[in-house]
Amino acid sequence: MFMNRMKLSAVLAATLIAVSLIPVTASAQAPRSPVAPRRELVESVVREAYDKFKGETSGKNADYIPYLAQVDSKLFGVAIVTADNQVFTLGDVNYSFSIQSISKVFTLALAMEELGPDKVFQRIGSEPTGRPFNSVAAVVDMPTHTGNPLVNAGAVATTSLISGKDANERWGRILAFYSKAAGETLTLIEDVYASEAATNAGNKALSMLLAKYERIYADPFESVDIYTKQCSVGVNASQLARMGATLANNGMNPASREQVIKREHIPYILATMTMAGLYDSSGYWAWHVGLPAKSGVGGGIVAVVPGKGAIAVFAPPLDEAGNSVKAQKVIQFVANKLDFNLYSPASVGLK
Ligand code: GLN
Repeated sequence: MFMNRMKLSAVLAATLIAVSLIPVTASAQAPRSPVAPRRELVESVVREAYDKFKGETSGKNADYIPYLAQVDSKLFGVAIVTADNQVFTLGDVNYSFSIQSISKVFTLALAMEELGPDKVFQRIGSEPTGRPFNSVAAVVDMPTHTGNPLVNAGAVATTSLISGKDANERWGRILAFYSKAAGETLTLIEDVYASEAATNAGNKALSMLLAKYERIYADPFESVDIYTKQCSVGVNASQLARMGATLANNGMNPASREQVIKREHIPYILATMTMAGLYDSSGYWAWHVGLPAKSGVGGGIVAVVPGKGAIAVFAPPLDEAGNSVKAQKVIQFVANKLDFNLYSPASVGLK
């Protein structure tokens, strides 16, 4: 008995020494990311996707905003940021491109911070339009007129909800919020803003139409102007991936550890992205990729893997719906290889 106890304490002591020798890794602080143990796999899949699609030449830069037509079509960057702040990057990840429609996700998040989800749902709605992102017909036909926060009309209306004593204060609030989501100070790309402000008659028309239906909540032209600025914010692929990772990490920026978005708002944001993040291709995307995502005509797409991290891809040529061709292909490839698709047989417990 005594001997046994002696043996037991010797074993315990040896175990304690062994345990204390195991190095404490970064993932020990945030053990939730299942990406962490598969670092090599993640890296090799991202590299495989990059090599596979870098020669892809289909699609064409957006040209209705003159600045965007001139961006080098060959630029191509991929970044992954995990919920425990591991970073994988490949290609042109330091090039700053305009965030464009991806901004809509974060203005939606800010509107919810200020007003709560119920008021935002009431004032904007959350129905897919099944039409192009800048559709006038959708505004006329839909009972809500605004559609959802991720099409232009709904997005301008969402921007009009943001508080502030004047346009400058509202714009400052929006930019500061995006910066917190990125964990870095973001800035306006002045040339993009000038180019888009000179050619945004369509968005002004949408905004005035919303005024007719009383579905815009501040001065319509001022709201379009702030919206145009928010679309002209510069991000690189790494910053965009970190913004996505903030969504994946229940609203907490994985680098700064700041709770930027209330965790209870995240499901509404991800649901909206799933339904309308790639406009009238959102159905295809849900079917084949199964991840909440958002595209912008600047060539960026960010996809969120809830609880795990986000992948951002930047490549300017777009398809007909206005979504980056290469970005869609890379994300589809990576999501399926790494079993990130939320609706895949493995994800729903079928294998
Ligand atoms: N600023 C662009 C616009 O209003 C955003 C569109 C987009 O990225 N799909 O047209």
